[in-house]
Amino acid sequence: MTRTKLMVPGPVDVSEEVRAAMAVPSMPHYGEAWIQLFDETKAMAKQVFGTSHDVYILAGAGTMALEAALGSAMEPGDTVLVPCNGFFAERLVAVVEGLGLIPVVVEAPLGQPILPELVISGLEAHPEAKAVMLVHHETSTCVLNPLSEIAKVAQDYGALMFVDAVSSAGGVPVLADAWGLDFCISVANKALETPPGLTMLSISPQGWKAIDARQSSRGWYMDLKTWRWYAENWGDWHPTPVTMPTSNMYALHRSLTMLLEEGMERRWAQYAAAARAVRSGLTQLDFAPFVEDEAYASPLTTAFRMRPGIDAAALQKALVEEAGVQVSSGIGELRGEILRVGHLGLARYRDYVVAFLLGLETYLRQQGISVPVGHSLVAVDNLEV
Ligand SMILES: *Cc1c(COP(=O)(O)O)cnc(C)c1O
Repeated sequence: MTRTKLMVPGPVDVSEEVRAAMAVPSMPHYGEAWIQLFDETKAMAKQVFGTSHDVYILAGAGTMALEAALGSAMEPGDTVLVPCNGFFAERLVAVVEGLGLIPVVVEAPLGQPILPELVISGLEAHPEAKAVMLVHHETSTCVLNPLSEIAKVAQDYGALMFVDAVSSAGGVPVLADAWGLDFCISVANKALETPPGLTMLSISPQGWKAIDARQSSRGWYMDLKTWRWYAENWGDWHPTPVTMPTSNMYALHRSLTMLLEEGMERRWAQYAAAARAVRSGLTQLDFAPFVEDEAYASPLTTAFRMRPGIDAAALQKALVEEAGVQVSSGIGELRGEILRVGHLGLARYRDYVVAFLLGLETYLRQQGISVPVGHSLVAVDNLEV
């Protein structure tokens, strides 16, 4: 069998071009060549975030940047409204608590979106909330929350808007300036189709005001003021406070160049087409999509429920061992109930989608369920090869 095809929400299988970019010789994270690479990468990241304001690229995981943004702008004891409809929103609650901030949680059922009315009710009940922190694409349930509408609510109530766009930026529209996002955080290893190691965030002028107004001290490495100081004072030769993963930066530069040359709209359409092909194939095979309202079903990942008599863990194992396709299980209370398929990275191409669907068909036949070969391949024709 060839290499296992990653069809998890992230990390994702990346192009040969991006993999090759990782193999550059060592280089210092300062000096002329680095500055050019770093500045060009930042300029491209700004396009992905839809911002003309600041974008910072940090070494580390997305959660680190989420924590850095919150911790830099909020004072211990500040209240943050966290709309919650899945595991990653629960994670944000833990980050909020870990920083000594007070979370106010408003909840929607798993598999359903956060609607603006829910956020309005939370802010009406808690006028002390200084910020709203939303997961854009709740990767644990494959729901895409209506970010622009919720950001509008936050703005109307004078609350700062923090966004976990870790698995969405680059894959669907994210317009930080037009939508009024104060802090928008993403990573290299999901829709930006690069190996893990880098995280990035956009910061609005209001975001900086909140950071500058903060009284108590906030460590050093994860204080965004430290990163700003280096960008402003050492920007022409050593723009970050710490050593950066230079190979990852090459890879991100390559990946963003490819994304922007190809056109973001075209890429978004490819993900959406892969999601449609998977969704219709699943329906053909009587696996119900977990997100019932298509308007909120993510075009980047798809979650589906098990058919009666089909065991999620056994199916997941068979897909790896016999179809060479790795998908994700449900997290927490959804373990055993759903499986999740990613459409990011190479998983948006026809060979990945076909391998997954044929693998499902084979498994069903092995369980004694009669399925004609190719029955699920109803919408794979126009997928990119
Ligand atoms: C993957 C993911 C994270 C975690 O990112 P790390 O880089 O592992 O910290 C956070 N939020 C969402 C929505 C994700 O999909």
